[in-house]
Amino acid sequence: MMLPKEILQKYWGHSSFRNLQEEIIKAVISKNDVVALLPTGAGKSLCYQIPALSKEGLCLVVSPLISLMKDQIDQLEKKGIKALTIKSNASVDEIVTLFDNLKFGNYKFLYISPERLNSEFIFNKIKQIPINLIAVDEAHCISEWGHDFRPSYRCIHKIREILPNTNIIALTATATKKVTNDVVENLNLKEVCIFKKSFFRENLAYQVIQNENKIGKLERIFTKNPYPTIIYVGSRKKTEDISNLINSKGYTSTFYHAGMTQDSKSRAFNSWMNEENLIMVATNAFGMGIDKSNVKIVVHLDLPASIENYVQEAGRAGRNGEKSFSVILQNDNDIQSFKKNKLESYPTIKEIKIVHQKLYQYCQIAKGELKKSPLNFNFVKFCETYNFPFKKTSNIFRILANNSIIEISPKYNKKSTIIFKISSKSLAKQQFNSKISKQLIDFIIRGHGGVFHKEVKINEFKIAKSLNTNSLTIKNELNSLDKLNVLEYKEANSNEELTFLIPREDDKTINRISSSIQKFIKQQIQKSEDLIYFIKNNTICRNIQLARYFGEQKGSKCGICDVCISKKKYNSSSLEKDILELISYKEEISQEEIIFTLDSDEKAILIHLRYLLSKDIISLTTTNKYFIS
Ligand code: ADP
Ligand code: MG
Repeated sequence: MMLPKEILQKYWGHSSFRNLQEEIIKAVISKNDVVALLPTGAGKSLCYQIPALSKEGLCLVVSPLISLMKDQIDQLEKKGIKALTIKSNASVDEIVTLFDNLKFGNYKFLYISPERLNSEFIFNKIKQIPINLIAVDEAHCISEWGHDFRPSYRCIHKIREILPNTNIIALTATATKKVTNDVVENLNLKEVCIFKKSFFRENLAYQVIQNENKIGKLERIFTKNPYPTIIYVGSRKKTEDISNLINSKGYTSTFYHAGMTQDSKSRAFNSWMNEENLIMVATNAFGMGIDKSNVKIVVHLDLPASIENYVQEAGRAGRNGEKSFSVILQNDNDIQSFKKNKLESYPTIKEIKIVHQKLYQYCQIAKGELKKSPLNFNFVKFCETYNFPFKKTSNIFRILANNSIIEISPKYNKKSTIIFKISSKSLAKQQFNSKISKQLIDFIIRGHGGVFHKEVKINEFKIAKSLNTNSLTIKNELNSLDKLNVLEYKEANSNEELTFLIPREDDKTINRISSSIQKFIKQQIQKSEDLIYFIKNNTICRNIQLARYFGEQKGSKCGICDVCISKKKYNSSSLEKDILELISYKEEISQEEIIFTLDSDEKAILIHLRYLLSKDIISLTTTNKYFIS
């Protein structure tokens, strides 16, 4: 069998491992149970893929989202490695065939959803194939403390009983202690090796800057640092608006969000990668798999969604080890609107029930019925039909998916299509009030044969050019013709595939999971509060604050964040403030811990502690820990 390095070279073409990958791979190959806690983009997939390739047999990968599975399988197949997944709607016959293929077809990976992994039938099938490793991807889904709890993840451990001699690797980017403990406990991991990459990056300066004139500040940043930059904003529309604004001031930028077609996404991505445009303005959809090493600055023009998101997004700067910056530009308004937006986007149980019921109705599913095959689904149209707000409804969909009620995955239509829904005769009789409608219909009929009886591909951009207008107008026009039932218009990349996993039971379904939903929402609110606390806390080093949040033992002052810089002229009154802040944060804390955390002159700290004790501002517990009196 090949060595890990040889596999890396042969299939991935990379010459060296990144931080911790090699150690993790070694531990997995030696049949240890392993937990790998590495930030997003650090290269976790290799940590199970390479061990699996170095042995006989197959690796079973549990993954929460079909879109993630599809993505991984595509990537593997491009390298000539065979991988499969079991579709959620696969019939018994299909599953039998699939396992036959697995047995005889030289496959190396079987990707499976946790829901699928929860049946005797599948367990029996799995017993018959030589599984060499179990990988649990996005393992934080096991924990209610993780940001994406999925009850079905808590049944994965059953596979342990089926395959007692196969080791498990659990992978996640969420690294709080509570989550890690939950993962170890729930998967029943034995003598587990835990690998954790500290999120601390000594070359990255975290800066939270209060500023009323954000664009002015941006200009100063760009002028001083003409290097690759990412600007994160809170909405799709804003990506384009801010990008235009920046360009009008003479800088080069482009924009990216999840609602764009695959084509425009690649175009934007490439123009930023090859530095034709130095600045990328994006929503947090821009992230996965970005591997540009010389990003100098990541700016958050709107507050990130959570501390987890922040650290991931900020971490895209300075991968080459050079000094780089993560800047949050904020003002009091931001915090107010962040709170308002967040609160408005969390649904009540009643709202979840309504959307859930309408969803079944919209897809024409009767009570008690289970629709087996995936449906073509357009989220935007669904929301518009019932006047549901996008953000909240999308959160509801996430809750339904996390609780194994539905499964939803993007379905990429590379090209838009249309088909007429009325005959050419009735079309000729139809009255249209706008000139452009007539021109558009004429153009379509002339240029696209067969459009009355089959779907034909169209290119809005080209049509717009021929008709001397822009593609947005064409899209709007086609959408209104669609509404009039003249034609059916499927816009590129606007559709998703929706699968129902359980029969329609209306409120009963939601009642069953309402307590877990409530917990989830409470947790999301807590996360928003943690973020606001971080933004507002300008007395403790940003790095130390983040270290505490992620439960890292060592957190030393970075010396380069906004807090550290403003304290460069350290004076003793601020030291006192820091001590008090720390004690009240920890509730109880020993002298050693205070000295260790504050990383300041030890003598000075002791003098302050003595003074605060004598004034009764702080007191000591019987175990010699300080607390606020
Ligand atoms: P994660 O699951 O940790 O978010 P992925 O496994 O998706 O990250 O990997 C992110 C990217 O990093 C992929 O494009 C992958 O090919 C690349 N990558 C992983 N390991 C290495 C390496 N040793 N050298 C160079 N690129 C790597
Ligand atoms: Mg991953």
